[in-house]
Amino acid sequence: MFYEVIVDISNTEIDKVFDYHAPFDVEVGTRVLVPFGRRQVEGFVVGKKESTDCKYEVKDIISKLDEYPVIMPEMLDLARYMVTKNLRFIDCLRLFVPAKLRGGRVKVLKKNYLCFNTDYTLESALKEVKTSAKAQRAIIIRLQSSGMEGETEINNEYSPSAVKALIEKGILIRITQEENRTPDSMVKELKKVTLTDEQRSAIDAVNSGDPGVYLIHGVTGSGKTEIYMNVIEWALKAGKTAIMLVPEISLTPQMHGIFRARFGDMVSVLHSGLSDGERYDEWRRLLLGQAKVALGARSAIFAPLKNVGVIIIDEEHDGSYVSESNPRYFTSEVAEYRAKYNNAKLILGSATPALETYHKADKGEYKLITLRNRANKKEMPQIETVDMREEIKMGNTGVFSAPLLAALEETLKEGNQAMLFLNRRGYASFVRCRQCGFVPRCPSCDVSLTYHQEDNTLRCHYCGAKYRAIQSCPKCGYTDLKEGKTGTERVVDEVKRMFPEARVLRMDNDTTKTKDSYLEILSEFGKGNADVLVGTQMIAKGHDFKNVTLVGIIDADLSLYYSDYRSSERTFQLITQVAGRAGREQKAGRVIMQTYNPRHYVYSFAKQYDYEGFYSKEINSRELTKYPPFTKIVRLLVLAQEAEDARRGAEMLTAKLATLKTKVKGIRNLQKMTAPIKRLRNFYRYQVVLWIDTDMEEELMPTIYQIANGGNTDKVSVFCEINPQQML
Ligand code: ADP
Ligand code: ZN
Repeated sequence: MFYEVIVDISNTEIDKVFDYHAPFDVEVGTRVLVPFGRRQVEGFVVGKKESTDCKYEVKDIISKLDEYPVIMPEMLDLARYMVTKNLRFIDCLRLFVPAKLRGGRVKVLKKNYLCFNTDYTLESALKEVKTSAKAQRAIIIRLQSSGMEGETEINNEYSPSAVKALIEKGILIRITQEENRTPDSMVKELKKVTLTDEQRSAIDAVNSGDPGVYLIHGVTGSGKTEIYMNVIEWALKAGKTAIMLVPEISLTPQMHGIFRARFGDMVSVLHSGLSDGERYDEWRRLLLGQAKVALGARSAIFAPLKNVGVIIIDEEHDGSYVSESNPRYFTSEVAEYRAKYNNAKLILGSATPALETYHKADKGEYKLITLRNRANKKEMPQIETVDMREEIKMGNTGVFSAPLLAALEETLKEGNQAMLFLNRRGYASFVRCRQCGFVPRCPSCDVSLTYHQEDNTLRCHYCGAKYRAIQSCPKCGYTDLKEGKTGTERVVDEVKRMFPEARVLRMDNDTTKTKDSYLEILSEFGKGNADVLVGTQMIAKGHDFKNVTLVGIIDADLSLYYSDYRSSERTFQLITQVAGRAGREQKAGRVIMQTYNPRHYVYSFAKQYDYEGFYSKEINSRELTKYPPFTKIVRLLVLAQEAEDARRGAEMLTAKLATLKTKVKGIRNLQKMTAPIKRLRNFYRYQVVLWIDTDMEEELMPTIYQIANGGNTDKVSVFCEINPQQML
């Protein structure tokens, strides 16, 4: 038998099948050690065959690295599909296994136990040891009564030599067991609810429906989690498995807790906060069929589950589902592939679906299920807009408008909680010399530096570089420096200044660097140990705090003026999501939104919670202007350390694409320009942007990928993105 092996080296040149022979049988999907050139490397067996037409000498596989295949046949097919989307085979396979499995850097945890040998009685065992051997006698008494205990514990409590002597005498028997490392979760009570009519009909529609894609569009608080769990239950009853995806950030131990309360050990959780051991064990429990529900962030879509009955993507509009760094993939595409393969149902859920998703539902490609009411019948909180231009006219140039201040005061007085949302971290977006206009910029990136007060630094938000803050202008020495736009740090400062008694927490990238800090902040706030939570979009998602009666949106316009066709959509989503945090239980909530542009249509729709109205308007303008979903935007990003190399690289690609454009149908527009951020991490950036007809994507993309790959040299790298989430 001959085996086809993909070696575990990420290099386009050798990303192909190599034939090997083996003196033993190897199942497809097994990891193996093979000779490769003068080295030994790990690899994956991706196929077997009776004969080979190989021209070179076929070598033998050295050994198998695991006892069982780690890549299921379905995943091999998936990898073959992903390869057509311009990924390397090996990079796909790497996505499917825990990173530390490669190189044998994580192992099954084995624990030794000591058992009392029941051939002995207490008396006969004690007779075997001298009366002076106190430790041995004590261990015999202890284990004869307990039966079995951990060897380490007994060693520590008594003595390893006594244990050793007893094992040699045959009084104790050592057994080794595999242990699972279980990630922490919050212990949650199983909450029994009576389903609302809307929930019930949503569940029925899915459970009695055909395989395919379902979009559950339900307002915030409509109880979508309950729907998901019911559908998963139905899948488990039918002997199937389930994958549940949530954005990384909302995957707090809370969600894990809710799922564990409902499904017990059937749930396995996969996210970036796990230790290597935990990740490996959770993954292995799925592979071996010990767990049947995978709960996790984006990468859990690759969970090694067989016979998948349902895949759920919660908050489907969330940008974190798109992997924009290598390897690049769309979670929804992978999910659709796996759902089709398993004849399963794919459920996309959101209060604010991505326009492209809703458009598919609108056209009937997806089945649409709508929930208009909150599960507890609570009204959606009222959104009030404050015109900040009026505030300025009245002489208020502070962070808070008069209405927001008053509302904050009232909330604190009543002992309720407030959330203040601002999607900008740091203290001030930049500093500028009032005399000569000098603005400190990042030496490696083409952006200005953000002022952070907590450690008095200027930081680059793109490459992370940090510099000491300046007291005076390094150019002219002037000491009067103007601070740019307000960030979360300053909001905290202002709250403390206005309300010295208030307990304030901040949640953004800077305060959530460690594994548990995210959960700590949320649980402190949840327990009522703080009155105000200030944060970036991290606080917008999914949280359920019952005492929050006020949500303040400090600068609603922030995402509106990005030069990005999704800016209106993003703004609508953010406002709806943050607003949804207020008044979720008994207490009514209100939302105060500060804007310089109160008449913008996004705000009128957001205030009415009118997603459909917003959708109609937005989709019309996308159709008129030929933006996605009516076209695909393909960007080839060209990076090089020398500006000239990047420019020339982009020019060459443009020339090739221009030729292609004249030969085929479907390329509507072609542009070459510097990227919006001209330099990042010392790389100069150019972009070539193509608008292609949506129905020509399949046909055109392979050629476009080919051209893009052809642009790679030792000086120039080319990346190809489709409908990029962010055009930096
Ligand atoms: P969504 O994800 O749609 O925003 P959640 O699933 O977080 O909403 O549910 C919001 C709240 O409503 C949760 O506290 C949940 O326990 C509660 N809930 C869900 N279904 C019901 C129900 N049928 N009756 C009462 N409360 C419910
Ligand atoms: Zn930088």
